[in-house]
Amino acid sequence: MDRHYDAIVIGMGVVGSTAAWHLARAGQRVLVLEQFELDHQNGSSYGSSRIIRYAYDHPAYIPLAHRSYPLWRELESESGDELLYVVGGLDFGAADEDTLIATRDVLADEGMAYEWLTPEEVSARFPQFRLDDHMMGLYQPDGGALAASRCVVAAARMALKHGATLQTGARVTAIEPHNDSVTVRTADESFSAARLVISAGSWSGPLLRGIGLDLPLQVTREQLFFFDTQDPAAFLPGRMPYFREHGSRHALNSLLHFYGIPNIDGCGFKASIHTNGEPTDPDNTLRRVDDSVCETLRAFFRRHLPLADSPLKTGRVCLYTMTPDEHFILDSHPEHAHIAIGAGFSGHGFKFGVASGEILADLVTKGATDLEISLFAQSRFGANGD
Ligand SMILES: Cc1cc2nc3c(=O)[nH]c(=O)nc-3n(C[C@H](O)[C@H](O)[C@H](O)COP(=O)(O)OP(=O)(O)OC[C@H]3O[C@@H](n4cnc5c(N)ncnc54)[C@H](O)[C@@H]3O)c2cc1C
Repeated sequence: MDRHYDAIVIGMGVVGSTAAWHLARAGQRVLVLEQFELDHQNGSSYGSSRIIRYAYDHPAYIPLAHRSYPLWRELESESGDELLYVVGGLDFGAADEDTLIATRDVLADEGMAYEWLTPEEVSARFPQFRLDDHMMGLYQPDGGALAASRCVVAAARMALKHGATLQTGARVTAIEPHNDSVTVRTADESFSAARLVISAGSWSGPLLRGIGLDLPLQVTREQLFFFDTQDPAAFLPGRMPYFREHGSRHALNSLLHFYGIPNIDGCGFKASIHTNGEPTDPDNTLRRVDDSVCETLRAFFRRHLPLADSPLKTGRVCLYTMTPDEHFILDSHPEHAHIAIGAGFSGHGFKFGVASGEILADLVTKGATDLEISLFAQSRFGANGD
């Protein structure tokens, strides 16, 4: 097997698979090393759906969204797969809830369409929802859902079509940077390349420490649930937007978001609680969901989405990789510009995966990206990661 490549990509999640697609279609000879199989269930990118949205409370994500929507459409047309469903997005919470107001203001500042709806207006349009009197709804028509696993497989297929090599069952154990190349080792093989993209998700911490970057990455165990709702047609795209609730808090007062996604592929209505998870080791995570979390969701449904308080189809565990400020790390290695890092996507990186992949590909091939990424610099976490 040829052991030298133009580029090696570590990890075949949404970030690695799309980085490989961008690199391969730009004519790079690419090797992707994945420790499990393609579309495995152990990381963060597997599953039926993920929300894609412009509705952000920080303006730095709007250019990423503007780049991601057309790139997903490009991958759709190249692969022939349907990946992106525009279903509309409904954020709701108390009328004075900080993050809801900030989200509305960012949309207004960015000239994005939105509607600020009273509880009555929300129920008139989306009868599934019941908001409390002191609440408001923020409707954004471009909100959507991505068919997660299908996105990863489509990007992998297109990378292979452009000549990339994908090696599964290949866990990278060491990275040795050189002046203008890099050696990457697995348990029983070693490969070299002119450049490297590290997109190792929840396993990034130890790999990055091995090349001198001690970054504050906390892996958490998150849970998601699929329900067999009463009136299933009311939970289909076209009848129901994704929703994100603003204002709930952990016992420790950090923000939660109850959220849900319409049933885009027969898996049922998906719902979960953002940043509800406890720290975990990605190689040793309890993969069974907790009834207590499902019960917390049901209590939320009884208040705001009564038809969803219905039989559970299935529940699954998935991993977040959190940074302290919940912003991504998208950057070049400070000493090795031919190495780029995508990590710490903090539970909201899938929607931008295709743009993050492009940014990482551009950083290692051109040394720069057209997109503004200063918010995502690894240097924001001082030398010892604080
Ligand atoms: C429950 C849940 C709901 C979410 N909902 C949304 C949402 O609605 N919208 C949204 O935008 N985002 C959402 N996210 C976040 C999003 O899914 C992640 O940010 C994204 O999938 C991260 O992709 P990744 O490629 O970085 O990581 P991963 O998909 O985990 O990919 C990393 C890959 O690297 C491989 N790897 C790691 N170490 C090695 C090694 N040493 N050698 C070889 N291979 C290695 C792993 O096996 C893995 O396949 C959600 C996440 C979860 C868990």
